[in-house]
Amino acid sequence: MNNPLGGKLINRIATPRQRACLLKLALPELHISEERFIEVRNIAHGVYSPLTGFLGKKEVNSILSSWHLTNGIFWPIPIILDISFAERKKIKDARRVFLVAGNGKKIAVMDVKEIYLFKKTSFCKQIFKTTDMKHPGVKKIFSRKEYLIAGNIILLHDDRGEFAHYNLSPKKVREIFVKKNWKKIVGFHTRNVPHRGHEHVQREGLKVTDGVFVNPLVGYKKSGDFRNEVVLKAYTYLSRHILPRGKSLLGILEHNPYYAGPREALLTAMLRKNFGCTHFIIGRDHTGVGNYYAPRDYEKALAKYNAKMGIIILHFKEALFCHDCKGMTLENLCLHGENQRVRPSGTKVRAALIAKRHPPEEMMRPEIVNLLLREKSLFV
Ligand SMILES: [Zn+2]
Repeated sequence: MNNPLGGKLINRIATPRQRACLLKLALPELHISEERFIEVRNIAHGVYSPLTGFLGKKEVNSILSSWHLTNGIFWPIPIILDISFAERKKIKDARRVFLVAGNGKKIAVMDVKEIYLFKKTSFCKQIFKTTDMKHPGVKKIFSRKEYLIAGNIILLHDDRGEFAHYNLSPKKVREIFVKKNWKKIVGFHTRNVPHRGHEHVQREGLKVTDGVFVNPLVGYKKSGDFRNEVVLKAYTYLSRHILPRGKSLLGILEHNPYYAGPREALLTAMLRKNFGCTHFIIGRDHTGVGNYYAPRDYEKALAKYNAKMGIIILHFKEALFCHDCKGMTLENLCLHGENQRVRPSGTKVRAALIAKRHPPEEMMRPEIVNLLLREKSLFV
């Protein structure tokens, strides 16, 4: 099993006694969205180890310019909390604030270290390589408030959400890996329902590891994305009935996608290192959107940073079905012509499902298609 980033799994969850003491305090309240609540929980459970809170200006600038924290640890995307001018005024000089969820529950206490201006244009230029408002990540950043507030947090109220059964903390996942006696584990990240290309790279990953940690993302979805419930249902089936028996563990990752291409691909790898994964699969357009990032951008980022990441990246060539190979294979392993090949395509699968048709069997297993076609609505 792999060590967490920074060597120690961060735990920022209040003990019952701490919780009782903290809740008695009279502190200014800062209301935060569900997306930020996810990040608070991730910090508290060590998903973002070594981070212990929302990041300050120096750390953010270090990440933007060098993909590293100031202590030299690799970290490609800042985790930040935004506040408005009015909220800033309300907090005044308070050293501590309650972070409050939409339902009015005090979910965390934050030690306020710093409040600073959110320089959105330079943030977007560095993180997304564009300030185009058509980019969903850029659009989200510009819709955020004008200041950033930094400081450590401590979680008071842990809500494991709608999919609590699958929402496993890094601590829990590590315990399961020990129980299963898995030494080498490959992490798999996804936002979509599994087609045969996804399944094939998981099987390829299993050739060099003891188990696969299938870790679909549950969090903010943009219009047209597969619904969380649907993705989870399809992966539950894949994990139980299709992948080699006893070789997969299914858990969700609460994470808000940035659609930031290579930077985010590498971030998603670091999160899985914190769950204990020794290997991680990065796909061709892993965390990108539209045509903003090219395959070579991922290769370049990996060539530059992989040595610093402390996790082995499996960056496979495209998985495809070949009639002459008589099954799924990788593009570089098949010597046959294009007319023998069927390339599983998320776009084509999606189009077929929208039309209530079965995509070709070479792209998606019929039993998964049947399961999906029974759903009333597939998309957000
Ligand atoms: Zn072939």
